[in-house]
Amino acid sequence: MPEINWELFERQVAECRLCPLCGQIRHKVPGQGDRNAPLMLIGEGPGQVEDEEGLAFVGPAGQLLTRMLGSIGLPRERVYICNVVKCRPPHNRVPTPEEAEACRIHLRMQTFLVKPRVIVLLGSTAAKYLLNPEIRITRERGIWTERKGIWMMPTYHPSALLRDESKKPQAWEDMKSLREKLKELGLYPDLLAEKDGGI
Ligand code: SF4
Repeated sequence: MPEINWELFERQVAECRLCPLCGQIRHKVPGQGDRNAPLMLIGEGPGQVEDEEGLAFVGPAGQLLTRMLGSIGLPRERVYICNVVKCRPPHNRVPTPEEAEACRIHLRMQTFLVKPRVIVLLGSTAAKYLLNPEIRITRERGIWTERKGIWMMPTYHPSALLRDESKKPQAWEDMKSLREKLKELGLYPDLLAEKDGGI
């Protein structure tokens, strides 16, 4: 059994052909950020800009995510950000259960390596595949669940907030709840902002 480390993770993702999504991409998008971060954010899959750059959450939704984190005082480089699938689904469609299941091996390794204390699931796809297949994001966003010592909370995907601004107040409630959870756990004590400006 090879030692599990970041080099192995990067090689596994780069060489992966476990599902058909790898057939039409420009770049794999493994995820990036602070590899020792106590907070991990997981979205659905790379979009067009992410596929072009090989980086997660760098398009318009990613810019909003950066502002959302900033609204509670967290610089984006202090968290770890990735997606359920590491290859862009054609036309940004939702990854199938088979694709998500195939890519789970990489996400598992990533979670093992980062060892987050808190995970925020961005959008219903991440919430369905990683928390509860029956979840309704509109009803169950903002609810915390503890699994194997990791606190998990689903919230809206930033691209949903770009499509529908009326969801932003609820997303702001979730960001404040995240700030409270991080405080409760004694995480990021030097950073968390008390301001109440919304997103
Ligand atoms: S989406 Fe994941 S499982 Fe599918 S080919 Fe890409 S890296 Fe492999």
